[in-house]
Amino acid sequence: MKVYNTLTKKKEEFIPLEEGKVRMYVCGPTVYNYIHIGNARPMIVFDTVRRYMEYKGMKVNYVSNFTDVDDKIIKKANEEGVSSEEIANRYIKECKKDMEDLNVKPATTHPLATQEIDGMIAMISDLIERGYAYEKNGTVYFRTRRFKEYGKLSHKNLDDLQSGNRSLLVSGADEKEDPLDFVLWKPKKEGEPFWKSPWSDGRPGWHIECSVMSKKYLGDQIDIHAGGEDLIFPHHENEIAQSEAANGKEFAHYWMHNGFLNIDNKKMSKSLGNFFTVREIGEKYDLQVLRFFMLSAHYRSPLNFSAELMEAAKNGLDRIVTAVARLNQMLKASTVEELTEEEKAVLSEAEEFVTKFEAAMEDDFNTADAISAIFELVKLSNINAKETSSKTLLTELKKKIVTLCDVLGIITEKKEEMLDSDIEALIEERQAARKAKNFTRADEIRNQLLEKGIILEDTRQGVVWKRA
Ligand code: AMP
Ligand code: ZN
Repeated sequence: MKVYNTLTKKKEEFIPLEEGKVRMYVCGPTVYNYIHIGNARPMIVFDTVRRYMEYKGMKVNYVSNFTDVDDKIIKKANEEGVSSEEIANRYIKECKKDMEDLNVKPATTHPLATQEIDGMIAMISDLIERGYAYEKNGTVYFRTRRFKEYGKLSHKNLDDLQSGNRSLLVSGADEKEDPLDFVLWKPKKEGEPFWKSPWSDGRPGWHIECSVMSKKYLGDQIDIHAGGEDLIFPHHENEIAQSEAANGKEFAHYWMHNGFLNIDNKKMSKSLGNFFTVREIGEKYDLQVLRFFMLSAHYRSPLNFSAELMEAAKNGLDRIVTAVARLNQMLKASTVEELTEEEKAVLSEAEEFVTKFEAAMEDDFNTADAISAIFELVKLSNINAKETSSKTLLTELKKKIVTLCDVLGIITEKKEEMLDSDIEALIEERQAARKAKNFTRADEIRNQLLEKGIILEDTRQGVVWKRA
């Protein structure tokens, strides 16, 4: 299995620290609002990496945090007049719902920054003791130049950084020994949540969170650390400096970064009015379509989101779902068990597409080519599966399509449809409720049916219904 490593700028053979086991950390969202579709990209991409590794028999310990203390959360809490905790808890819950609808597996552990403050204080103290950090007026800074390998992930040179980053000089310039130094702990401001520490009542800087949570749940050394490409600098560069200075060991072996999602070829931003939450897209499309769309490009490439591309993704996904539904129908009709010689040849051709799928995934998770292999399998199935086919052929074809789609986290079986007789019974009950002037119950039934995609129309001839 080949993985592109941002650290070496090369595709490398994936060799985990411990055979058959993968330790993986993915930087999670800051929870101050519903997640946007850009945030969904790393979730989907790295969930797919995890699923493929599990498919290959590896045991993946997958840790992804929620940043639940941050300026943006505090600002939102002040706007609403509630606590930061309430804001964070609300949007963690909403994020988990979106993840479920995107068929993103829950992480093995989802740590919260606010629950790990003791560990952060311990690591900061350790860094001070080792001479990698210092305190000034209640703020603790990391002594960047002391870490000789600083810049190795983002391939930046310290002197270029200094001349290119004059803004760094502005904030806290008087206190810092060097403009490149960054904050590990900062004192509270009025009205902000805070924790006691040896330096001040305050809160941790963002970068230290991930170093500490990764160490606690995965150990000093991990296999994969991942996130969006905007995190390479400074977030991941700083994480490396903190962890390697504190632990004296290489932190993560492979650094994986997804490309950015743009909207109609422009950067997504609230001010441009081209900003979409996952929840908003979910009102127009089944979120499986969004997942399928995200995987239709290579994870390191920029990805453009547009209505046309979403329609194309919807059609592509429909082709797969329809092929599986067709196989299910034929399976009900089929009476033969034994494979014919011709069918054996079809299955061996199908196996070639499975090999093609795996080869694509082995090559740095080329999901675009992996999806092409699934389409070839679907085409093979559409041409060869008939009502007269054997059960073995139909079952095997279905199994192959469903299994490969599951590696990508794509659900292929349509939800159970309601039986006509059940619908009619509910309509009758609704009529009776209306007669008895129990309009609450009548509305409840209408909504219950609507949720299953059944639309009711009251006509002069009575109630008629149709499937949406
Ligand atoms: P944040 O909450 O801003 O820290 O973002 C959470 C994750 O989403 C990080 O891994 C970011 O790199 C990623 N991310 C944010 N915006 C985008 C985008 N437009 N496209 C792809 N990934 C993004
Ligand atoms: Zn992080």
